[in-house]
Amino acid sequence: MVDVHTVAQRSANMRAIQSKNTKPEMVFRRLLFNKGFRYRLHVTSLPGSPDIVLPKYRVAVFVHGCFWHGHGCHLFKVPGTRTDFWLGKIQANRDRDYRDENLLLAAGWRVLTVWECAFKGRQKRTNEEIGLLAESWILNFDNNVSHFVIRHK
Ligand SMILES: [Zn+2]
Repeated sequence: MVDVHTVAQRSANMRAIQSKNTKPEMVFRRLLFNKGFRYRLHVTSLPGSPDIVLPKYRVAVFVHGCFWHGHGCHLFKVPGTRTDFWLGKIQANRDRDYRDENLLLAAGWRVLTVWECAFKGRQKRTNEEIGLLAESWILNFDNNVSHFVIRHK
């Protein structure tokens, strides 16, 4: 197949795909809202500009795309072209995620990472299940899990 995109166009496309307000993020937000949680969005004053912040529970949420953040799951495919370039970008994202999570934890925040594969693909969970997992962790301050992860089954 002929690649009709220039490198610049492709980069712009990939950036657009990476942008805020992705579908899993919108779905997860609605789940939280329907359970009565209130939140702030894209809080740039916190490390990593968390997608969703619940100040009352001191929880910062990241909704990650499995490609961009290099999740080791069935949705992640190594790009066939410009492989080193994309792998470098993805590794940089992973390093940044790790740093930001640790900065938040050190500042007394609890961190919830929600992966795209929880919502999408052959091992996805139901929205009800995702909502219950999130709710029970958010409400339970005493479980000593400061970083909780929701991903595929
Ligand atoms: Zn994943």
